[in-house]
Amino acid sequence: MYKGTGASAGIGIGNAVIVEEKELVIKRETINDPDQEIQRFKGALEESMKQTEALAADLEKRVGEKEAEILKGHIMLLSDPMLVGEIQNNIQNEKVNAEFAIETVCTMYADMFASMGDELMQQRATDMRDIKTRMQKVLLGVESVDIASLPEGTVIVAKDLTPSMTAGINPANVSGIVTELGGRTSHSAILARALEIPAVVALSGILDNVSNGDALVLDGTEGTVLVNPEEPVLKEYQDKREAFLKEKKELEQYIGKPSVTKDGVKVEVVANIGKPEDVDKVLQYDGEGVGLFRTEFLFMDRDSMPTEEEQFEAYRKVAVAMDGKPVIIRTLDIGGDKEIPYMGLKKDENPFLGYRAVRFCLDRKDDVYRPQLRALLRASAYGNIKIMIPLVTCIEEYRQVKALVHEIMAELDKEGIAYNKNIDLGIMVETAAASLIADIFAKEVDFFSIGTNDLTQYTMSVDRGNDKVSYLYSTFNPAVLRSIKRIITCAREAGIMVGMCGEAASDPMMIPLLLAFGLNEFSMSPSAILRARKMITQYSTKELQEVADKAMSFATTAEVENYMREFISK
Ligand code: PEP
Ligand code: MG
Repeated sequence: MYKGTGASAGIGIGNAVIVEEKELVIKRETINDPDQEIQRFKGALEESMKQTEALAADLEKRVGEKEAEILKGHIMLLSDPMLVGEIQNNIQNEKVNAEFAIETVCTMYADMFASMGDELMQQRATDMRDIKTRMQKVLLGVESVDIASLPEGTVIVAKDLTPSMTAGINPANVSGIVTELGGRTSHSAILARALEIPAVVALSGILDNVSNGDALVLDGTEGTVLVNPEEPVLKEYQDKREAFLKEKKELEQYIGKPSVTKDGVKVEVVANIGKPEDVDKVLQYDGEGVGLFRTEFLFMDRDSMPTEEEQFEAYRKVAVAMDGKPVIIRTLDIGGDKEIPYMGLKKDENPFLGYRAVRFCLDRKDDVYRPQLRALLRASAYGNIKIMIPLVTCIEEYRQVKALVHEIMAELDKEGIAYNKNIDLGIMVETAAASLIADIFAKEVDFFSIGTNDLTQYTMSVDRGNDKVSYLYSTFNPAVLRSIKRIITCAREAGIMVGMCGEAASDPMMIPLLLAFGLNEFSMSPSAILRARKMITQYSTKELQEVADKAMSFATTAEVENYMREFISK
């Protein structure tokens, strides 16, 4: 049995498909017969064209015409006579192998496009590199896995999955995900939970122990993986899967029930989403609103920024679907582990401490922040939208965003466009700095939402995705707990709403503590909502005070965790 980190609950049973993006090694070779090599190149060109056409057709059918446009652009590049002619000349004149000629010519073009600076040309550069790799893969016989059309019953095994790869997965065919890297709060893990696919991450070395087609069983709650288990063990896990699905069914009785404690304290259990389509799940699991819409997903998996109009449509759709219930939309939080190639962000030496989130947005007001804030304000006329700013560390950042929001409001007034003039503007409290001055923030902002994923990272100085130091990453660490308690207390004293949208909000061992501290809103993956509601209805906040005091008295993470584990199992 292999042990990693459980990242998405449930039992996954299926056959391994190893998803690997191999680095291509392109060597220069001198060839004797250039004409024959040109024929080899032409064959690869034709095959690449066929592959791209098939991919484009599939994407158009599955996702939409707009998404398929990117691939149609690739087909045009592949059929450009100038490019093809230059590669052939290179083979002929330099007497080099086709792979190398493609490398030389395509890289030359890609670099040229990239140096032109504007976004469209950057994209051309990316496209050029893409078709280069595709042709070289054909020549070298390297197959890439098409993640969208894996066979039914697949368990994906990979070094790591990017968020956009995870988003491309078809949940009907994928029964589990196992990765060597990542953590519970990495974005691919969050997406796996949104797709309700059991997942185990941070399982280093698993690729050396699994081959394509192996029977795999994974437990996304325990974080364990079995390779080719014996029949009785397999049966045991099949039963476990049944039990998991049965519990899921039983929780349905909490649909339509209020989230209220035994002593009558009413809280809200709301949802984290990444795309407008996710509201279907929020409604299915009876979320009382949206506590976090991670808008960066609208910007991912595409070649250029979504326009103000596209964003407006996305935000409006969620606001309308939630029908007056609160919808907290977080402005763009990129950087860190969330890269967007066309944004022209350079790799930071220290991405989690660098140029990201609100820092980046305030630096790119005109092309990035304004269109997003305008779209949000316009959409606010259609529902109960609140705007939330990520990664705030100082009050000046909040004031700058607020000033920008007011500027845009004046603009909209002039244009006669409707919006909610009293829209709430709140912050994520997810840095040590924001936590330490939570009392100051609470006097100025409209609401808090505690981002424990980052708060833990920045409080403990531990990269949330680094499995080598993950033993330090716990929201039950006394330092993190004190921070959480303090943030909630400051908000309650100032009379503003305080929620939590980090993963800790749905942790059964954390919920009793959060109730005792006075948290107003719990935001989580839609599939976790009913279990959280069930827990909330079982407690009385008065009884929980004692539990919280005891939990806060321990010196170590282990003591707190053991105490809470025991408490909830009673
Ligand atoms: C957090 O940091 O807790 C959070 C909710 O934001 P994200 O996971 O997107 O960084
Ligand atoms: Mg965060």
